[in-house]
Amino acid sequence: MNAGNAVVIDNLSRHFRSFKAVDRISLEVRTGETFGFLGANGAGKTTTIRMLCGLLSPTSGTGTVAGFDINRQAEEIKKSIGYMSQKFSLYPDLTGKENLSFYGAAYGLTRQEVRERTAELTDRLSLGDFIDRLTKSLPVGWRQRLALGVSLLHRPRILFLDEPTSGVDPVFRRKFWQILYELAEEGVTVFVTTHYMDEAEYCGRISIMHQGRIVEAGQPYELIRKHRSENLEELFIDLIKNRETLNAEA
Ligand code: ATP
Repeated sequence: MNAGNAVVIDNLSRHFRSFKAVDRISLEVRTGETFGFLGANGAGKTTTIRMLCGLLSPTSGTGTVAGFDINRQAEEIKKSIGYMSQKFSLYPDLTGKENLSFYGAAYGLTRQEVRERTAELTDRLSLGDFIDRLTKSLPVGWRQRLALGVSLLHRPRILFLDEPTSGVDPVFRRKFWQILYELAEEGVTVFVTTHYMDEAEYCGRISIMHQGRIVEAGQPYELIRKHRSENLEELFIDLIKNRETLNAEA
């Protein structure tokens, strides 16, 4: 693979019976890039992320993540990446600290490493006293921050975040993105889906997916200029409307 690319996808598809959830998409994400993987509901984003994280086999096509083949090296990929899924993955009846210990052990960290990483992440994510509360009692913003902490335990160089700020208030969202920026500055590749267009603007590059296809990809402001849109939200809506019109005419 190209050493400058964290993710390479070539003609990747995933079908569920005759339904094409992901349909021949190609994409490259450079190491250290913050990449916004956008799309309408049901566009195929989560399905794509699950293939990239080694959790779902592609129907066809190829790809590499951290240099590992998504068709053949799922286990190596899992060790190299952090994944924060759309569904809440923490144990509700454990405290934040206990969740970190549990996942730390699952990642193969020693107790000492878990202690050190928990202290580092508590500080970095400003988890404070929330770390000692039962996860189910935490407001959604704190839970998401804790889930980010879990995904960072084993110091992954590539982070996949599937709608990490869904349902989170604007102040928390801003803080969450500050943390993502810091990670990107340290060279971590951030591959993130969001429905918030202000967040998409923070990304170095974005792609827009609709009905299993990637409709457009590039730098947010270049795409706005290219399509003569007012802003990213307009661009998103226009591209999807155009695609639906084309599909209806076909
Ligand atoms: P959202 O923004 O709503 O999370 P998404 O872009 O992540 O949507 P996916 O979850 O990837 O979309 O789903 C794409 C399509 O594939 C949807 O129509 C979904 O119902 C379908 N799909 C996903 N997983 C399966 C499955 N295991 N079996 C059948 N269909 C599936």
